[in-house]
Formats: sequence, structure tokens, C-alpha cells
Amino acid sequence: MDILRHFVFCPRCAQRLPQPPPAPNYIECTGCRFRCYFNAGAAAACFVWRSDGKVLFIRRAKDPAQGRLAPPGGFVDAGESAEQAVTREIFEEVGFQISPPEFLGSFPNSYFFREIHYTTLDLFFTATLESTSGVTNPEEVQSLVWLNPMDVDPDEMAFPSMKAALILLKSNGGRVSLG
Ligand SMILES: [Zn+2]
Repeated sequence: MDILRHFVFCPRCAQRLPQPPPAPNYIECTGCRFRCYFNAGAAAACFVWRSDGKVLFIRRAKDPAQGRLAPPGGFVDAGESAEQAVTREIFEEVGFQISPPEFLGSFPNSYFFREIHYTTLDLFFTATLESTSGVTNPEEVQSLVWLNPMDVDPDEMAFPSMKAALILLKSNGGRVSLG
């Protein structure tokens, strides 16, 4: 992973680190034996169904993938389940309360931010809209669009993992959890 090459000196003893690193997923100091792993970060996103059979997509307000479609979601914090994370993120981003999320599938992704590629594992869920505060976070969301997922071109999605998840959702016949 290219994030490793940004680590030139040991963060603990400041000795120069061996280049290239000993493995693709960790740095290790030959002086003090400090070792630090860089594993895939967990992210969670959810296809939220409305009672009319449409699903919420956001148009991303900023890069990466500004202007493309994405299901709402975000990174999983330490100590959280993916279900808790996606429920929290959806409330923070768009002010929605959702039903308990049901797992759809997971796909790997690479997220480019400030010249670093972060490797993620994106976990996708489905849920139904229960209530909304009507408040969205303008820093995260350009606009909300409600679409029949069967009509959405997978190439409109922001990331390859989201494209794969939409294809999976459509192969399930669209709605899977409308209560
Ligand atoms: Zn060291």
C-alpha cells in the first residue's frame, strides 16, 4: 500500500526505516522493533428505502468523486459495529432515522485523499426510512435524490465498491427489506 512509503523515520525512536518496507501492510523499525500495521479501514453505507419504493442517493459535495452518486455512510469508529456506524452516519449526514440495517454485501475499495490511497472494506446494508429531521450536512451532501435503483446506471456511482453494491442490489430485484 502506498501509504507506507510516506513513513521515512520510525515514529518511536526516529531511526530511518528500511525501504522498501518488509511487507506490504506494515512498517518495522530495525532499531527499536516498533511495528505498525496498515489494514483496510472499515466503512459502512446503506441503501435506504422510502415507502414509494425509491432509494436515497446523495450527490457528493466534494472530492473524491464530487458530483457522483453514493449511498449515505462513512467510516466505522473504534468500538462501533458496522450497523451502529451506518445508523450514526446517516443521522449525521441527512438527519434520517432508519430501521435496523440488514447486511447486503461487502466490497474492497481504495479511497484517495490528500495524495494517499487508503484501502477500505466497504460494508453495504439496506434499511427503510423511519423518520427525518429535514436537516442535511452541506459539507458532506450536495443534494439528496430519491431514485428507483433499477433505473440507476451503476457507472453513476462514486466508487467501484458502490457500483458493485448497486449491481448486487439490482440482482436481488431491488427492494429486499421493505417492511
Ligand atoms: Zn524505532
